[in-house]
Amino acid sequence: MSPEARAWLCANLAPLRKAADRHGLTHDVEALVASVQADPDGPADDELRALSRSVGGPAVVVRGIGGLPSGEVLGARMPGVGGGLPARVAYCCPSLGCGRQAARTPGGPQPWCAVSEGPMAMTTVAP
Ligand SMILES: [Zn+2]
Repeated sequence: MSPEARAWLCANLAPLRKAADRHGLTHDVEALVASVQADPDGPADDELRALSRSVGGPAVVVRGIGGLPSGEVLGARMPGVGGGLPARVAYCCPSLGCGRQAARTPGGPQPWCAVSEGPMAMTTVAP
């Protein structure tokens, strides 16, 4: 599966699981997640598209740039760091299971990777 599709899966796993529950296809979603966890490159993007379509789940939108799903915000600004230039902070998946990058709401919880089932790792991006 492409990093972009894995990022989509991570950001949309909760609504996809809910939709699959309604169609009795929970096992199919969990099987796909398990195969991505075992081999991130293994499953085809079309497998994810077909599954989401068959349960009436969210449309799989994969964007070329950075693999950011719609609605996802990359990075947060941290003023006063880096000699007056704001440093951009982004959260990335600590494993290869997901290509998602996420921002953290100030004071909010650390972004969580639904595919890797762990907290996302903070990285600083040059301004
Ligand atoms: Zn993730």
